[in-house]
Amino acid sequence: MKLTLWTYEGPTHVGAMRVATGMQGLHYVLHAPQGDTYADLLFTMIERRNARPPVTYTTFQARDLGGDTANLFKDACREAYARFQPEAMIVGASCTAELIQDDPGGLAEAIGLPIPVIALDLPSYQRKENFGADETFFQICRALAKPVARTAAISCNLLGATGLGFRHRDDVAEITTLLGQMGVAVNVCAPMGARPSDIARMGAAHFNVLLYPETGEAAARWCEKTHGQPYTRTIPIGVQATRDFLAEVAGLTGLSPRIDETRLRQPWWSASVDSTYLTGKRVFLFGDATHVMAAARIARDEIGFDVVGMGCYNREQARPMRTAAKSYGLEALITDDYLEVEDAIAALAPELILGTQMERHIAKRLGIPCAVISAPVHVQDFPARYSPQMGFEGANVIFDTWIHPLVMGLEEHLLTMFREDFEFHDAAGASHHGGHAQALAPQEVAQPAPLPEPLVAAEPAEASGGDIFASKNGQEAPSAEVIWLSEAERELRKIPFFVRGKAKRNTEKFAADKGLTRISIDTLYEAKAHYAR
Ligand code: SF4
Repeated sequence: MKLTLWTYEGPTHVGAMRVATGMQGLHYVLHAPQGDTYADLLFTMIERRNARPPVTYTTFQARDLGGDTANLFKDACREAYARFQPEAMIVGASCTAELIQDDPGGLAEAIGLPIPVIALDLPSYQRKENFGADETFFQICRALAKPVARTAAISCNLLGATGLGFRHRDDVAEITTLLGQMGVAVNVCAPMGARPSDIARMGAAHFNVLLYPETGEAAARWCEKTHGQPYTRTIPIGVQATRDFLAEVAGLTGLSPRIDETRLRQPWWSASVDSTYLTGKRVFLFGDATHVMAAARIARDEIGFDVVGMGCYNREQARPMRTAAKSYGLEALITDDYLEVEDAIAALAPELILGTQMERHIAKRLGIPCAVISAPVHVQDFPARYSPQMGFEGANVIFDTWIHPLVMGLEEHLLTMFREDFEFHDAAGASHHGGHAQALAPQEVAQPAPLPEPLVAAEPAEASGGDIFASKNGQEAPSAEVIWLSEAERELRKIPFFVRGKAKRNTEKFAADKGLTRISIDTLYEAKAHYAR
């Protein structure tokens, strides 16, 4: 048992639903208890689809358990076939149905439907949503993709885009355009948009573009082995990655990597003097491994951030994630426990968090700017406007999205210079985020800003226990080992808030290294000199 409040991924059958809902002409019969239909809402509300997912639930109840749940399942299959007339069907069990062991695959086979029926064996108690999607798509390819002659012109399949995928809709459009400019046609995009009959002709493509390893890698490997189709390893998120991707495609096809960068604005925007203040900003990254690894490269090499922490929740990708983190001098945080993520963020005190919807909540609590780079996401990250992450337009979108939550350069100066100003004070936050602004009381404007209570007592006998920031937003956890003396604490508060966390941690580390248990103003300046060397 594990006490869980938030989960980064749903159960495996939600992954299977994402594949079924992304496709056309495929139906999913899911052996599941009454109430599991809640998953429909993910598609009709979060993704705002205008049709119900192609899923029939058996919705068995407690009283059915004493009867014949196997017949219930068979009837559901017959009815779903009669009503929806799909080209193919997938059948499987949700977590509860897994326990009653009705064998959906065997039961569906027994009723002899005149279409391919693909049985899914998804271990709900060991694996999660992404595995469910990857495995489902692989099983569909394995059952339906036949050996066929290659297309006359060079073509590829796009693999991995699903229903409920973070920006999958626009990534597919962006990559289709880029490949088209090189003279590569898309044979089949799957699962998103494909019919079972399209899966059958996947073998006609010359190679595969693996867009999302989390949901398409098993199929890509199988196609490589069975149909001799190589697949791309570079994920085209970021300018450099997109160029590398096009070069990889050129290598696979022998075509020239024709690169039309006329729409690309990100490199100049990052290089322009307005972006100087972004250099060295400390950023923490968390999400699915693919998006985090891509984001880290953009953060460090294209925008100039300092990547201070990175990790992912999907253990399937832990190995590449660890290798990537090493190249940033970091140890990857592999966890699906958001409390561990929160602790890591609180300890690192970054200036920007790039994460999932969970990290948005954490960031809000800690008062740190945040942008979303990966699923799981809420409805606002299925936008009406064109918003890819991949390709050159994706790079433009990413630049805007990440910069937006930050306090702008001029504001940073104002916040530092006029700490007592009614508008530009430490707790005000970015001016374009009105919700965060807290006006100071008139008397606070006129006088030097008072220190929050309870801050410090007289030193040295009544030195503070270190709760030096908690009054604003809880961003800084008090240090257990060292005690800040009042004067040092006052001095620390003069440091602009967005670098204060780092200064505090560095000073405490310096003090610990020196065996000091109390931090005086001298310790603070010695630490400053030490780290400046
Ligand atoms: S079967 Fe699984 S998804 Fe459905 S209610 Fe039970 S635990 Fe949740």
